[in-house]
Amino acid sequence: MSQPPSSPATYLDANATEPLRPQARAAMLAAMDVTGNPSSVHAAGRAARRIMEDARDVIAARFGCATADIVFTSGGTESDALAIHALGHGRRLLIGATEHDAVRMARPDAEVIPVDGHGRVDLAALARALQGGPALVCLMLANNETGTIQPVAEAAALCHRAGALLHVDAVQAAGRIPTDLRGLGADSLAVSSHKLGGPAGAGAWLLAPATGGPALIMGGGQERGRRGGTPPVAAIAGFAAAADVPARDLSGLRLAVEQVVTGAGGVVVGGADRLPNTVCAVLPGVAAQTQLITLDMAGVSVSAGAACSSGKVARSHVLQAMGLGAWAGQGVRISLPWNATEADLARFAAAYTAMAGRLARAPAAA
Ligand code: PLP
Repeated sequence: MSQPPSSPATYLDANATEPLRPQARAAMLAAMDVTGNPSSVHAAGRAARRIMEDARDVIAARFGCATADIVFTSGGTESDALAIHALGHGRRLLIGATEHDAVRMARPDAEVIPVDGHGRVDLAALARALQGGPALVCLMLANNETGTIQPVAEAAALCHRAGALLHVDAVQAAGRIPTDLRGLGADSLAVSSHKLGGPAGAGAWLLAPATGGPALIMGGGQERGRRGGTPPVAAIAGFAAAADVPARDLSGLRLAVEQVVTGAGGVVVGGADRLPNTVCAVLPGVAAQTQLITLDMAGVSVSAGAACSSGKVARSHVLQAMGLGAWAGQGVRISLPWNATEADLARFAAAYTAMAGRLARAPAAA
């Protein structure tokens, strides 16, 4: 059997996927020894169900909802799709301009609410759009490319005053900043296991009490009829174990990354209110793809915000929506994983500074 390629020395692409936390690995290994379908009534089924219900308790406590209002899914994309299908039924769909494709692509008739230069949604524009009839609003808690945190609680108040519902894509926020359905006043929330150090293939759609709508996947009536299909018990166990680990404060390391970027002639975009692990760095005049490849060759993995599934780098719709013009094709995302070290920082600093020294031209106007 051929060996898998070894991991790069410095992994700074946590917003794509976090390294697996050891607690998640241990929980999955234990759960994989349990044979049983959680829908089965016999002892084996009950053992599998116990694992799921323990996980449900953890997720409920961590994200501020009732256990009965958790729907386990395959991840963030599915959670967003279920929410838009159920809560958006018979409603207009209003989405922030910097939403992830999981939301942007869910319905072709979505109306887009603009953002400011930091990527924060324009609440006055949202209030105006809400006057047009019953709506579902989708807003992310934190942006995947810039880390910008949205004024979700304010948006929730506006929505409810207008009789609208609010679905929050908390995929990048969960596990990094406080993420609480009740505290935010949202009607539903999407979270994803692999973005917080659990395995890919699990996630959750969390609902406020008495919230719902038609199911997208009927199947065998699992998850109280809201998402059919046999659940991946081991992945859910790993998801909950990862979610239960307190967030590490990465803001000191983030600041150090920002100092490296600005010291080398780069520009940090996205405003002050951002995820503690995320830096979106524009190197004026240098294509994002060139930066990615240069850093990769130096053993540092970062991403351009807009890497397509094809692996190509497109202009970032997020940076475009922020009005950054040509810079929308010149930004890379440095996202610190939970296990980032000072040695990672040193390697990044050397690679970025050398790259900027070789490639950067005088900053052009954005
Ligand atoms: N929402 C946001 C903000 C994301 O960043 C992502 C993934 O990058 C998703 C949704 C999709 O999540 P998943 O990969 O679990 O389907």
